[in-house]
Amino acid sequence: MELLKGTELTKAYRKKDRKVTAVDRVSFSLQEKEFLAIVGESGSGKSSLLRLIAGLDRPDAGRLYYRGEDYTGKKCGDIGRFLQMVFQDAYSSFDPKMKMLDSVRECGAGKSEEDLRELLKSTGLDEALLMKRPGELSGGQCQRMSIVRALYSGAQILLCDEITSALDVSTQAQIVHVFQQLREERIFSAIFVSHDIALMGELCERIMVMKDGVCVEEGMMQEVIAHPTHDYTKLLIENARKQSF
Ligand code: ADP
Ligand code: MG
Repeated sequence: MELLKGTELTKAYRKKDRKVTAVDRVSFSLQEKEFLAIVGESGSGKSSLLRLIAGLDRPDAGRLYYRGEDYTGKKCGDIGRFLQMVFQDAYSSFDPKMKMLDSVRECGAGKSEEDLRELLKSTGLDEALLMKRPGELSGGQCQRMSIVRALYSGAQILLCDEITSALDVSTQAQIVHVFQQLREERIFSAIFVSHDIALMGELCERIMVMKDGVCVEEGMMQEVIAHPTHDYTKLLIENARKQSF
C-alpha cells in the first residue's frame, strides 16, 4: 500500500541575486512500513524536500498525496495527524521549561498511558525521565524522547532530518539500534535524510540519491550499494568506505 507520494516537486529560493532551485522536479513514493533514505552531500536539497513533504514549505510546483489524497498546500496541523518530523537538534524541539511528560502528552491524541509505556520500552528509556526537563537529559535520551513523542501522536510516518548528526558515534549507534528495534515491530514508515550513506545502509531498505536538487539515482538499498549506476553515488560510497578505515 502506497502511503505517501510526491510528483515533480519543485522549490526555488532567492539567494542574494541568484535563484537556487533547491528541489528540482523530484518524485518519490513511500510504501506502508517502509524505511526510505534520502542521501546526498550538504546543500543537495534534502532538507528542502523534507520540508515540502511535511507541509512546512509550499512547493512551487508538483503535488503531494497521502493514501491517494492530495494534501498539497494543506496546513501543518492537518498534516500532523499522519506525519511527524524529527529534527537534528532534539533539545530545541522541546520547550525547555516543560517536563517531558507534558511535552509528549501534548501530541498524544487518542493514545493511552500503556501506549506511552510501550514506546519508552521500545526506545530503551526509563519512565522516570518523563518527570525531567530537556536540559536534564543526554543528547541521545532527548533524541529518543523526540522519537517517542512523534510516534505517540499516532502518526504512521516519521520524517527524520539528520537525526544522528549532532550525536557522538556511540550515541548514533544507539539511535540506529532503536530504529532497528522499532522496525521489527513494523508500526510505522519513515523517511531519513542523511549525508551518511553507510549509516543509512544499516537502516533503510530503499534509497534516493540527491545532487543539486535532483534525484540522480534510486532503488533498493543493497542493490544500489552493490551496483551504483551514477558516478555521484559511487563517490558517496567510496568516501564512506574511506571513512570507515
Ligand atoms: P541539504 O539539506 O541537502 O544540506 P538544503 O535543502 O538545506 O540542503 O539546501 C539546498 C539549497 O537550497 C542550498 O543551496 C541552500 O542554500 C538553499 N536553501 C535552503 N533553504 C533556503 C532558504 N530558506 N532560503 C534560501 N536558500 C535556501
Ligand atoms: Mg539539511
